[in-house]
Amino acid sequence: MQVLHIVWFKRDLRAFDHRPLVEACRHGAVLPLVIVEPKLWQQPDSSARQWDFYAESLHDLRESLAALGQPLVVRLGSAVEVLELARQRFCIQGLWSHMETGNGWTYGRDRAVAKWARLHSIKWVEIPQFGVIRCLRSRNGWARRWEERMVQPIPSPPQALQPLVGINPGPIPSASDLGLGADPCPGRQQGGRHQGLALLQSFLVERGALYHRKLSSPLTAFDSCSRLSVHLAWGTLSMREVVQTTRQRRGLILAHPGKDRGQWLRALSGFESRLHWHCHFIQKLESQPDLEFQELHPLTAGLRSSNSEHLLAWAEGRTGLPFVDACMRALIATGWINFRMRAMLMAVASYHLWLPWRETGLHLARLFVDYEPGIHWSQCQMQSGTTGINAIRIYNPIKQGQDHDPHGIFIHQWVPELRQVPAVHLHEPWLMSLAMQESVGCLLGFHYPRPIVEPVAAARWAKEKIWAQRQEFGFKELAKEIHGKHGSRQPGRAASGRKRRSRASVATDSASFKQLDLDLS
Ligand SMILES: Cc1cc2nc3c(=O)[nH]c(=O)nc-3n(C[C@H](O)[C@H](O)[C@H](O)COP(=O)(O)OP(=O)(O)OC[C@H]3O[C@@H](n4cnc5c(N)ncnc54)[C@H](O)[C@@H]3O)c2cc1C
Repeated sequence: MQVLHIVWFKRDLRAFDHRPLVEACRHGAVLPLVIVEPKLWQQPDSSARQWDFYAESLHDLRESLAALGQPLVVRLGSAVEVLELARQRFCIQGLWSHMETGNGWTYGRDRAVAKWARLHSIKWVEIPQFGVIRCLRSRNGWARRWEERMVQPIPSPPQALQPLVGINPGPIPSASDLGLGADPCPGRQQGGRHQGLALLQSFLVERGALYHRKLSSPLTAFDSCSRLSVHLAWGTLSMREVVQTTRQRRGLILAHPGKDRGQWLRALSGFESRLHWHCHFIQKLESQPDLEFQELHPLTAGLRSSNSEHLLAWAEGRTGLPFVDACMRALIATGWINFRMRAMLMAVASYHLWLPWRETGLHLARLFVDYEPGIHWSQCQMQSGTTGINAIRIYNPIKQGQDHDPHGIFIHQWVPELRQVPAVHLHEPWLMSLAMQESVGCLLGFHYPRPIVEPVAAARWAKEKIWAQRQEFGFKELAKEIHGKHGSRQPGRAASGRKRRSRASVATDSASFKQLDLDLS
């Protein structure tokens, strides 16, 4: 039997800055393995668009590893079954992987793999892949530990991999092989490390120059945000390399005289804060895996009720609120939308439409090619007011549209039914008279829906409900405990310079203040 180590690639599809690969290679021959688990891809948060990105990245990784001497091996099946077949054929000296903070299904799968490894006395070495800490006892000192990890030297990739004889690399299945339904996404980002590196480069030397000013509007964000989330989510780039490259770029800018720096330093500092948040949010799920399913603050549970009509209208971009519909349709077509618009989509669903966050969160998860469970579920709860520790933010979708798409360019692009409607009526087309509707060829209720809720009244009603709930006996005490476990320890900034917190706010997570402050810039 051939003696070897298995390197199990999951959400880390790269050979660069891959410590499990480097460490395993030091110990002997390596089988680089991806296990495509049909059950994982049939979970309600998975989609064909995510798989297509993943499959492109697998092809890219296979080429990189083949250049080192041993192509990536891909096998279909449950992880335990595939590993057991490998055990029957090889003498496995060790199993190496990055730690994964995935969804509930992968958590259960990892426990089954750990049990299998123990049963067969195979050592499974899991190495952290970014700033998330397993078995974290306290959030105190977390930021310092994040920094320590980010400045660690990046290990040189292995010079060569020992070729394994008689192993077929195996086909990379298609989305339909995995039973995934049609999911057209013409504007989807392409997978593969090369794409990620090109984005990092273009962001740091060109596109990111005014990042802090352009990240909030969907008109500018598609180009001015880094667009690296999908590469960080599937691991085609490592967080450490993104942080270190950003800091090198800052060093280069600092070498220029002040007048030649433009606004780069501010842009890069805003960007780096967000890289920090990436891990801050994933840490929440790592420390409390049930937050994917249950309200972080137990007293916020069961507040909302299902409404299939509202859910469908929101999910398809047919709410009759033009800016909301434009954002949803852009997301459907591209698999991405900027942070502020994600927050608005979620807040409209949770407050104006009063829909349960888990149902709407699943829809968004499937649409996001960059779906990252730890960020996603923490954000879904935060934007729905169920964490108990974040400021309540009920976005006004009309004002958001007027602020971030004043001339209606984005709405015209994504809601063609409204193309003839003049900008002055675009954000509230229901204010058009019937004669006006006829003259622009857009009859409400026929060509484009009437709003499914009256936005101002719906927001007021939601605010009253939330406010009443926060007065319940024991709410604040529980919120304090939650903050102790999950809240950021960075000194919070008061909400000065912008609207005071509403009376419904009991925010204690300073990260949320920072987030809101930055996004209002
Ligand atoms: C309801 C909701 C769901 C979300 N779901 C996801 C998700 O599944 N996957 C995901 O990567 N992001 C998610 N985000 C966070 C954020 O919207 C995206 O990370 C960001 O828009 C990605 O675009 P970018 O790479 O150009 O980001 P940039 O603005 O260029 O930021 C750089 C990186 O920082 C991280 N980051 C940025 N903003 C945040 C944030 N608010 N919280 C945590 N990390 C952040 C991401 O890794 C991002 O790639 C969600 C936000 C909301 C409100």
